Amino acid sequence: MNPLSNPKIIKHIMQKNGLQFNKRYGQNFLTDESVLQAIAEGANITDKPVLEIGPGLGTLTWELASRAEKVVSVEIDKGLTEVLADTLQEFDNVTILHQDILKTDLQKLIEEDFGGTPPTLAANLPYYITTPIIMYLLESEISFPKIVIMIQKEVAERIAAKPGGKDYGVLTIAVNFYAHPEIICHVPAESFVPAPNVDSIVLSLTPRPHPTCKPQNQKAFFTVVKAAFAQRRKTLLNSFCGAGCFKGSKQEISDTILQAGIDPGVRGEALSMEELCTLSDLFCKNNLI
Ligand code: SAM
Repeated sequence: MNPLSNPKIIKHIMQKNGLQFNKRYGQNFLTDESVLQAIAEGANITDKPVLEIGPGLGTLTWELASRAEKVVSVEIDKGLTEVLADTLQEFDNVTILHQDILKTDLQKLIEEDFGGTPPTLAANLPYYITTPIIMYLLESEISFPKIVIMIQKEVAERIAAKPGGKDYGVLTIAVNFYAHPEIICHVPAESFVPAPNVDSIVLSLTPRPHPTCKPQNQKAFFTVVKAAFAQRRKTLLNSFCGAGCFKGSKQEISDTILQAGIDPGVRGEALSMEELCTLSDLFCKNNLI
């Protein structure tokens, strides 16, 4: 049994150490043991190395360290890092690093702490920076065997969305370009201390060995993706013309969209990743980007 999943014990440890749940750092600690186990089991980490973001008081770390070969946890809050030595004292396979994950050189960390082998990543992510962290991990191009994260329900729905709906957008394309997302379980707000204002989802991301589509120029692809969704109520043609990132006249932009076999009057949210890829290749070919 995980002693750190008990809300009373969590509150007691915080009080005893003169700590307060810091909203600024998204400190909502998970207290549902079945969800903690679902994260650890979904990550498939038995005897493997794990990188954790935001250990808090060590509740999820406890679950990971019980199964994994070793766990390295990156925590921004100095007060918590000092307490972790105590709450995780029974483990000799945990290393706590006091730093901001978004300022961490991941390649260097993996070299120094994992001998160059990319670990599995597991985390109950701080909500205020969920999307930046996901993008930071994926854009690092590190081949994590798996990423299992708890995130707010709305963000998970945007990641798992299909073309045509309101949730489908830049985040959907960006994540699915790099990884295959799967929902592991739904988690109500009451499973945390303190309870956040939103429900959550545990999501597994398996990085794709090869991207779903292969744009000739990745930077141009993401420019096209952002422009397609920048003004969601406008037609694709008007969105592109208003985006300010394309060269050429409205007619040239319209002709390029038609060349891709797409109606310039559709909305960006109707386009699949493959269609956006075709568009970006044509914008490059026609020297419009
Ligand atoms: N893992 C614990 C759990 O499941 O109960 C705590 C999760 S809590 C949602 C998020 C944790 O991330 C907090 O401990 C917070 O201090 C930490 N954190 C917030 N921003 C961070 C950052 N930029 N880098 C590293 N840790 C961060």
